[in-house]
Amino acid sequence: MFKIGCHVSSSNGYMQMIKDTEYIGGNVFQWFTRNPRGCQAKEIDPIDLKAFIDYVNERDYGPFLAHAPYTLNCCSDKESVREFACDVFKKDLEILNNIPNSMYNFHPGSHVGQGIETGIKYIIDTLNEVLTKDNKVLVLLETMAGKGSEVGSRFEEIKQIIDGVVLKEQIGVTLDTCHISDAGYDAIENFDKVLDDFDRIIGLDRLKAIHLNDSKNPLGAHKDRHEKIGEGYFGLESIKKIINNPRIKHLPFYLETPNELDGYKKEVEMLKEMRV
Ligand code: FE
Ligand code: FE
Ligand code: ZN
Repeated sequence: MFKIGCHVSSSNGYMQMIKDTEYIGGNVFQWFTRNPRGCQAKEIDPIDLKAFIDYVNERDYGPFLAHAPYTLNCCSDKESVREFACDVFKKDLEILNNIPNSMYNFHPGSHVGQGIETGIKYIIDTLNEVLTKDNKVLVLLETMAGKGSEVGSRFEEIKQIIDGVVLKEQIGVTLDTCHISDAGYDAIENFDKVLDDFDRIIGLDRLKAIHLNDSKNPLGAHKDRHEKIGEGYFGLESIKKIINNPRIKHLPFYLETPNELDGYKKEVEMLKEMRV
């Protein structure tokens, strides 16, 4: 089964997110648990949440990928920022443990000048603080474009983080096609080689989700500007190879392309046609 969907707005609750997903022809979705640029959590309506849970339990939908706010930086040089990140992380996991088939995606963070090693240590500390034996939600580290002092643009850095986590079984990785290309992995011309590298360094069993995006910039640009499917440097041929790659075909694909729902609907239709 082709698991495909997009980033949807969470402003009108969980049932609306599933309706939007059905509208675009999808069966998975990603959403922000909070205001992505601030950190305000959205009020959860228990009736809406219950309706959502009942609805998806009867259908073959999910996994649902919650995206942490951009302001969450586990490896900031400021202790107050790290404590805040830890707090948000814990609260989000608490919410997600009540949402069936959900996972939590976060950006490892930006080390803002104090050095990558210190940054990685702080990320490990945060994960060891927020993960508990009772947690049932997989936490996914997103591969980054390497903009500024972003941690996680090299597979080695992701591996180093995972190595430091005690409850490793709760950790996975999201591969963002635009980000890895920006980071210098040639997902456009040789996606299989990228997967070989991923497998050798991290292990493909850790890969749990794909952010499917075209890119406004060429290989190694470190810019992080997503483009509509087929309209950027990837083009349709590379995208076709990615969604049909036997090593990742079974994974959920989440579109984060610059689109409103109608645009996503067209992309999903096109991708379904390209899927063999
Ligand atoms: Fe992201
Ligand atoms: Fe992404
Ligand atoms: Zn991005």
